[in-house]
Amino acid sequence: MKDMFESPAKKELRPYQARAIASLKSSILAGNRRVVLALPTGAGKTLIGSHIVAGALAKGGKVTFCAPMISLIDQTVDAFEAEGIDDIGVIQASHARTRASAAVQVASVQTLVRREAMPAASVVIVDECHVFSQAVVDWMAAEPDLIFVGLSATPGRSGMATEWDDLVVGTTTRELMDLGFLSQFTVYAPTEPDLSGVKIVAGDYQAKGAAEVMEDRGLVGDILQNYVLHGEGRPTLGFAVNVAHAKRMADEFTTAGIPSAYVEARTDTLERQALQDQFRRGDLQVIWSVRTMTTGVDLPVSGIIDAAPTRSAMLHQQKIGRGLRVNPGTEDLKIWDHAGNTLRLGFVDDLDWSELKRGTREIKEREASEPLPKKCQDCANVMPPKTKECPICGAAQKPPAGWVETEDGELVAINRKVKGKEYTGEEKKVWYQALVSIARERGYSDGWAFHKFREKFGVGPSSAKVAGPVPAQVRSWVKSRQIAYAKAKARGDAHAS
Ligand SMILES: [Zn+2]
Repeated sequence: MKDMFESPAKKELRPYQARAIASLKSSILAGNRRVVLALPTGAGKTLIGSHIVAGALAKGGKVTFCAPMISLIDQTVDAFEAEGIDDIGVIQASHARTRASAAVQVASVQTLVRREAMPAASVVIVDECHVFSQAVVDWMAAEPDLIFVGLSATPGRSGMATEWDDLVVGTTTRELMDLGFLSQFTVYAPTEPDLSGVKIVAGDYQAKGAAEVMEDRGLVGDILQNYVLHGEGRPTLGFAVNVAHAKRMADEFTTAGIPSAYVEARTDTLERQALQDQFRRGDLQVIWSVRTMTTGVDLPVSGIIDAAPTRSAMLHQQKIGRGLRVNPGTEDLKIWDHAGNTLRLGFVDDLDWSELKRGTREIKEREASEPLPKKCQDCANVMPPKTKECPICGAAQKPPAGWVETEDGELVAINRKVKGKEYTGEEKKVWYQALVSIARERGYSDGWAFHKFREKFGVGPSSAKVAGPVPAQVRSWVKSRQIAYAKAKARGDAHAS
């Protein structure tokens, strides 16, 4: 049990990948049976997955890997084989590799949900576990002691907290950017659509209404003109509201001399492959899609045109994630956000995936305690709320609407009551650096310090992520939170039994 995920796999793990697996292991050793491992795009999810598989096999276990899309099955089998795992069967209709006796089963959840009996497994890995799967939920209910490991870049679906026991943040988009594994990006918001008249359905903009706004002649013209002026010939993905909108955008771009195409769910594999080949060769400059291409495709991209407004942080992260992988020639990403998504939801490296959500509400509004990014009135560059001078054009910036700047440079919401003791910027810095020290002392990720800081102050830290001395009051506060947490957990357990 103790070494269940230790494996002799082929490709060596990066330090944060080894740390992610170690954190997962500690959570399971602490008694959790369903653990989500949050890994952003580009973290090497498949490699980490294959290490988990190899580790379980080394202990004589059996693993089922559940994939939410058929297109991911062969990809996963190939990746596992590259890591020296060869005892693999596939569970998907009449797949050529069907082999029930194999120790590793790569299964389509659509096929599993129609099965009476689940494959024998000691560990079940659920890929893209933010996608709801009835098969997985039923399986969890049937085998309460079986270990489930969920993998996701965006574990933000409401209700996940009732399915899963724990969430481990393997790494973050910010950390991967700092380490150079993901592209740095710049966001421009050349237009902000007026979505005030669009209905909200299940927490997000209704597609029909949003499409009407985004297909407005003037707005389409703005998007095209902006790309002609600033596109720099970058290989670009465009996101549209629906298929008709994607087709319209591709047509308008092509007519204007920018070779473009669109893909939709019905585009078959061969045609999709052909388009992707043209794109890689540079014969196509922009590929438009709806959500079709937000998962499972790895194209060398250095531009994103976002013309699909959303209120879902998950969708926002998934779309931008398509452009963050570092490929030769695409080390930096430009995002032209014509949908207001960054101004509404924040930068994707500020989004927080460290907590599983209860409840049924699909989308949580960003808390008013955190100011959103603001846009430069001169060049449309989107920058963090505290920026005083636009890094692109140098224009002086005012604080964002609804916020004022205090003498020590803090941003405070106008009319917002501050509870309890007021801390100065310097005191907050000491707290943050102390929390970073405690995190490193205990082998936690730096995200823990960020999280604890926000628990204490209601906003994220604004000082640099460096370790500092730990005052006794910080240590005792951390301890008091742990005791409170343990008590709450004991009460919950007593309640449940
Ligand atoms: Zn500017």
